[in-house]
Amino acid sequence: MLRARDFSLSTSATPNRFHSLQGQYLAIAGVLTLLVLCGAIAAQIYLTRTETRNRANLETRNEVAEFSRRIRNAVWLAEDVQKLFLLTPLKKYRHTFDSHIESALRDIGGLQKAAWIRNAGLATDIQHLYRDVHKLKQASAELAQIRTHVERLYPITAILQKTMSASNRDFYTAAGLGLNEFSGSGMTRVQREIHEIFEASQHEWVLMISNFRLYLLNLSGVFGDPASGLQAHTRNIDMHYQQLRHLLDMLEERESSLGLQGSQSLADMRHSAGDWWQAYRKLQTRHADGDWRTDASYMKDRVQPLYDAIWRHLTNLDRHLANAFARDLDSLGQVARGSIRTLWGLAGLLLLVIAGGYLYLQRRILQPVHTVTHALRAEIWEDNVDIENMGPAHLQETRDLFQAFNDTAKKIRERQSQLEYQATHDALTSLPNRIQLNRQVREEIEHCRPRRLSVALLLLDLDRFKEINDTLGHQLGDQVLQNIAKRLLSCLRQRDFIARLGGDEFALLLSGVTLDYAEEVAQRIVQVLQQPLAINRFQLRIGGSIGIALFPLHGEDPDTLIRCADVAMYESKRLACGYMIYDPARDPNSVNRLALVSDFHAALEQDELCLYYQPKVDVKSGRVIGAEALLRWQHPVHGFIPPDELIPLAEQTGLIKELTHWVLNSAMRECAGWLRAGLELHVAVNLSMWDLQDPRLAEHVEQGLAEYGLGPQHLVLEITESAMMADPEHAIDTMNRLAGMGIRLAVDDFGTGFSSLSYLKKLPIHELKIDKSFVMDMCRNDHDAVLVRSTIDLSHNLGLSVVAEGVEDQETWDLLEILRCDKLQGYYISRPMEAGIFTEWLQGWKIYPALTRHQALLKKTS
Ligand code: C2E
Ligand code: CA
Ligand code: CA
Repeated sequence: MLRARDFSLSTSATPNRFHSLQGQYLAIAGVLTLLVLCGAIAAQIYLTRTETRNRANLETRNEVAEFSRRIRNAVWLAEDVQKLFLLTPLKKYRHTFDSHIESALRDIGGLQKAAWIRNAGLATDIQHLYRDVHKLKQASAELAQIRTHVERLYPITAILQKTMSASNRDFYTAAGLGLNEFSGSGMTRVQREIHEIFEASQHEWVLMISNFRLYLLNLSGVFGDPASGLQAHTRNIDMHYQQLRHLLDMLEERESSLGLQGSQSLADMRHSAGDWWQAYRKLQTRHADGDWRTDASYMKDRVQPLYDAIWRHLTNLDRHLANAFARDLDSLGQVARGSIRTLWGLAGLLLLVIAGGYLYLQRRILQPVHTVTHALRAEIWEDNVDIENMGPAHLQETRDLFQAFNDTAKKIRERQSQLEYQATHDALTSLPNRIQLNRQVREEIEHCRPRRLSVALLLLDLDRFKEINDTLGHQLGDQVLQNIAKRLLSCLRQRDFIARLGGDEFALLLSGVTLDYAEEVAQRIVQVLQQPLAINRFQLRIGGSIGIALFPLHGEDPDTLIRCADVAMYESKRLACGYMIYDPARDPNSVNRLALVSDFHAALEQDELCLYYQPKVDVKSGRVIGAEALLRWQHPVHGFIPPDELIPLAEQTGLIKELTHWVLNSAMRECAGWLRAGLELHVAVNLSMWDLQDPRLAEHVEQGLAEYGLGPQHLVLEITESAMMADPEHAIDTMNRLAGMGIRLAVDDFGTGFSSLSYLKKLPIHELKIDKSFVMDMCRNDHDAVLVRSTIDLSHNLGLSVVAEGVEDQETWDLLEILRCDKLQGYYISRPMEAGIFTEWLQGWKIYPALTRHQALLKKTS
């Protein structure tokens, strides 16, 4: 059930949402989600941008690469076809070359327009490429011109044609003229010698020219390896030329014989050979310089550098492309690295959050839960724990849990103490109950044992409570109990303990007291209880029976002590003596008692029991009118055992009915004897409360009377008030039957019980025996005298005769006589006697005539 306080607690406890686990969880989840979202969006944008940039880069780069590839291809093909052209200067080659170059130029134009080129800062480079390709085109046109014109191709041709051919011709002519001069018959030996020298010179010349021709052929590469060929021919040419000069020198030596023509030829030959040799040397130098063929040098000096430049440009472009590709790859790598870093970062963050979350969970939830668990356990073991002091509760939830736990624990403790109170207290009087008594007795014993102190336990049972309850109603009964509780409290010290054990039973625990003090308290209680109780319009007289047991005298443990007090209480009730101190001999469960019980069985069978008779005297006549039969047991070991001990034993062991039958039989047999001896006496037999519950009692009495030939007037049955009250229904039934048979019934021990005379009026009784405790003291105690007097008067008014028992002296006799008591019984007349002695005593009693006594009495009162 929710109460206002609970609501106020939960509403006032929500000032800050972030103090609750839910709030904190939402906040952390929100921040994390925001972080992850931002990261994801940033990564998305970055990736998309990089991707578009890279794709655009890739496209333009692909375009540029395509251009570059095509240009490269075109240049390569052009170079190739140009070489073919140089070998074989066909027109088709030239056209092909031109078309390739044109295509390259077109592609370069395309390149120039490409944005990537501008972005990469390659515009000037491409311009230079264009310029170089264009130059190549021009240079190639020039080269073609060179290749197709021999003079331009071979500059040595002019030397050959202009100088060497003329020199050759001149030499031949001069040598021919010289030969002709010295030919024919009749020549002198010198002239023949000159002829032969001319002939040899001409021959050497021819050989030299032949070798030169071979040299030329070799130079053009027609005959194998030009280097080795050229060397051989140069050597031969040198050799023949030296031979020739030697021959010409020989001619010179013969100058005198030469004649005009001969000298002329020699001079011409020397001149022509000199010119030729000079031209040859020049040609050789040219060859050595590589100048002998223009296209090669042109190619080498003009065209090839252009190719190189073009390739450089293209390589540069390709390098840029590769760099750009590498850059793109690098940027992609960066993106990848960035993503991986972000992933690691997120993973780290996640780890941190998990670790932090665990610590948080540990500190904020598990620890408080542990605390509550601990507290719950402690609570179970009744270790009251204040959870507030067990640790901090940071979270609203744990605070609520702590609060709820504390509230619940408090409620439970309250309820527990309530239940405990209810379980240990009597609701009506608010006094502790039996459970609490047991506990208290144990505690007191524990407390007093080491200190060598005694503990007295008093058990009190109210005497007339059941009757009040039944006749006046429970409500009034409750009021009586509450009043009694108050009265009892007034008899106790502050530190004494009192409990209500249920019904009309109370217990008092007096710690550290003597037996005398306990007795004093018991007396005080008896007195207090005797004072009439005014409730509503009733004046109630309620007595009580108290049993006293002492630790350690009677019992050393709570159970024994309580049992002993109970036994004593029962005894005191039975004897109607107010209070009773525990006596092991009267305890049905004491070891002695148990032995006695078995002996008692034997006693019944072995006739160890006997009846004593105490006479009853009629006051007016002074005659003995009857006797009360009183039981005696002469125990073979323990000696005489008084009836006050014997009767409870019989009652407690269930032997009482058997005993009563025996007593009745014995008494009636004795009485029959007296009758036979001419003594008209009645016999009075005491009945126990158990006898009144015996449905066969009346029958047994009837049979006895018949058996012994007695009339009902010969038997009086004495019944105590408490015996009548124990089970009134059955008691009244039995009494009615007995009275119906004409037997007289007497209320024994009147005054110790609680019956009011008006109540007795309803019972079939004829006689009232005032208890000896009042009678014995009545001459010294006015209170007793008043009580005896009013009892006698009231009884007479009710038509009952009155017997006073306990008459111990003449004074009492006299007073009772004055008070008009009907019958007397007591030691003054006689103590109870054995049957034989009683009949003897009767003889003696006759010696003192009643009249004498009567006269003496009259004297006294007059
Ligand atoms: P009671 O019925 O009141 O019997 C009278 C008791 O008072 C007897 O004690 C008797 O000896 C004693 N008595 C008589 N005159 C005087 C006197 O002048 N002064 C004093 N101080 N005492 C006097 P007794 O014989 O010891 O009997 C005690 C009680 O035992 C009886 O009290 C009676 O209640 C019970 N009792 C005795 N015999 C029987 C029995 O056969 N059956 C039952 N049920 N109870 C018996
Ligand atoms: Ca009696
Ligand atoms: Ca009596």
